[in-house]
Amino acid sequence: MTWHISLDDGGYEQARESFQWDLPEGYNIAWDMLRKHEDPEQPALKQAYPDGRRETYSFAELDRLSNQFANALTERGVSRGDRVGIIVPQKPANPIAHLACWKLGAISLPLSVLFGPDALQYRLRDSEANVVVADESVLGAVREVREECPDLTQVIAVDEENPEEGVERFEGVCAGHEASFEIADTEAETPAIIIYTSGSTGPPKGVLHGHGLWAGHCPAFSMYFEHSVFESVYWTPADWAWIGALGDVVFPAWHYGQPVVSYPMEGFDAETAFELCEEFDVTDTFLPPTAIRMMMTVDDPTERYDLSLDAICSGGEPLTPEILDWAEEQLDGVAVNELYGQTEANLLVANCREWFPAQAGSMGKPVPGHEVAVVDQETGERVPDGAVGMIAVARDGDPVVFQEYWNEPEKTAAASVTGPDGTEWHLTEDLGYRDEDGYYWFKARDDDVIITSGYRVGPGEVESAILEHPEIEQAGVIGVDHETRGEIIKAFLKPVDGASEGESLREEIRHLVRERLAEYEYPREIEFVDELPTTTTGKIQRRKLRAREHE
Ligand code: ATP
Ligand code: MG
Repeated sequence: MTWHISLDDGGYEQARESFQWDLPEGYNIAWDMLRKHEDPEQPALKQAYPDGRRETYSFAELDRLSNQFANALTERGVSRGDRVGIIVPQKPANPIAHLACWKLGAISLPLSVLFGPDALQYRLRDSEANVVVADESVLGAVREVREECPDLTQVIAVDEENPEEGVERFEGVCAGHEASFEIADTEAETPAIIIYTSGSTGPPKGVLHGHGLWAGHCPAFSMYFEHSVFESVYWTPADWAWIGALGDVVFPAWHYGQPVVSYPMEGFDAETAFELCEEFDVTDTFLPPTAIRMMMTVDDPTERYDLSLDAICSGGEPLTPEILDWAEEQLDGVAVNELYGQTEANLLVANCREWFPAQAGSMGKPVPGHEVAVVDQETGERVPDGAVGMIAVARDGDPVVFQEYWNEPEKTAAASVTGPDGTEWHLTEDLGYRDEDGYYWFKARDDDVIITSGYRVGPGEVESAILEHPEIEQAGVIGVDHETRGEIIKAFLKPVDGASEGESLREEIRHLVRERLAEYEYPREIEFVDELPTTTTGKIQRRKLRAREHE
């Protein structure tokens, strides 16, 4: 049983119609990832470090190590439903800690190593975590916030030879415990993980998911990596604290018994990315759009590197069209499949070149297993094809739809609406439309829509057009209040090094947007900046630009 959709049988429509979730009773993630494989001695994790060290961990070894850590957590008083923060980069301790939590029915809490003290404090307090497993690189930040987090009683440090008082060594903690552990009784609905949203539009929200979450990602995984047969090696440079890394790559790969490459990269480096792909024969990778744009600056990659890439997927923000052209021309036609999802419901829409041709700018079509629609957010009624509405997914029985926002019952309630046919929809807060061929198109986040002279403009579209200008590296577009037009469009732009930030560049940009989009969509105001506010996942925080504008 693998919940596998085959790309060979009957094509996309048939897969959608015949798909059924058949998660077994008593489902536990750790059993799925570690204990159901025919040959547990197969490699699960190919660990590389910047200093040249290389290690391989089999499924059986990860099982043993997470058993030891589960025993250690139990002994330290962690039990069912308790929260354990995990602030570890791409190192074995990261999945070992998650798997240990799931084995004992606790809730893991992935946190980014890029978080500073304020970001950590907010999430640790909000989730009332009792334990954190923290990489040596973040111990300073943890120390700063420890006093402010009354529930946090234990800190376990990874790769720290001489921990300070009150901090234990992860390696020592594991080694001291039994290598067997009986997995707790859980179901697909048992709470397993809280993942905080990126915080693009407001304070990050803790999103609670059950054990079925990663199995729920598997149909999408088959689709965007275009697999009928699995003989693959997976890697992503994305932070292993993000649903886009854990959920789109690591855990689905293990569900299918396939190896994942792990490398703690400090800051993305395009050459290193190609070197890793070459060394480990990486076949499938999730690359965030910003990473792809950096890789695009490397000349002749297929001549310089011996690559085995089959498929790239990308998402989290709109992909710009030149990315598809680059893969076609510079990577010998490797597929780049855009996908769409959010921390609350991942992944809902994807591309699969084997099934249908990509339409540049479209997120793709709904993944089998998820009932996606564009609805009126007030009534829950489906809107006609072509009309813009809110992208929604039916909650009922879908293992990827979240259970609740942690400690935020009002926000949880506001995120769903029941339609006239009784379907309970999860509202994504993203606006888009479906075309008559079934492709979905992203328009804007509900909060970000600019209404100028009565026209509704999605800032992402304007940013994408501006980014086609070779002298612009980053763009953030917002609406600013205007007496007669309601709002006008303002662009904050970070030019490439050495660009001339003058009136002629402004004029070229206005011209470009008018040509590409529409007369009313060009930015009337343009401000050049050195830096744009971004989330740790690389998304522009437009709310911060709006706040800056208000000051
Ligand atoms: P917050 O909810 O705290 O404001 P966030 O929504 O950025 O933060 P995530 O859950 O990480 O946090 O991001 C999901 C969002 O990213 C989606 O709701 C959507 O707005 C955007 N997104 C994801 N994929 C795509 C895509 N292919 N095209 C356009 N936007 C996308
Ligand atoms: Mg969101």
